[in-house]
Amino acid sequence: MSSDMTDHDLPHEHLDGYCVDALRELYLFLDGELTEERRVVIEAHINECSPCMEKFQFEDDLRVGIRTVVQGQVPPPDFRDRLLSAIDQAAAQSGGA
Ligand SMILES: [Zn+2]
Repeated sequence: MSSDMTDHDLPHEHLDGYCVDALRELYLFLDGELTEERRVVIEAHINECSPCMEKFQFEDDLRVGIRTVVQGQVPPPDFRDRLLSAIDQAAAQSGGA
């Protein structure tokens, strides 16, 4: 009996474990609640890993928009467009190929 499982090469398989850590700490990072040491690690990972970079920028944009609304200011006109296109991208990616 031969198992014919193909080895799918994930785009950033070598970063797999780091991605889990990075995404877990992403929210702490954005809240400024990470230690200096961890910030450096997460920052370095985000700079090297485009999936995490996109996720980070999406969350960062989201927070800026929310903060703006909370402060009673009007979000920039392109905020909604950028948000929608970011959601589109995320949906396309997680939808599987
Ligand atoms: Zn990553």
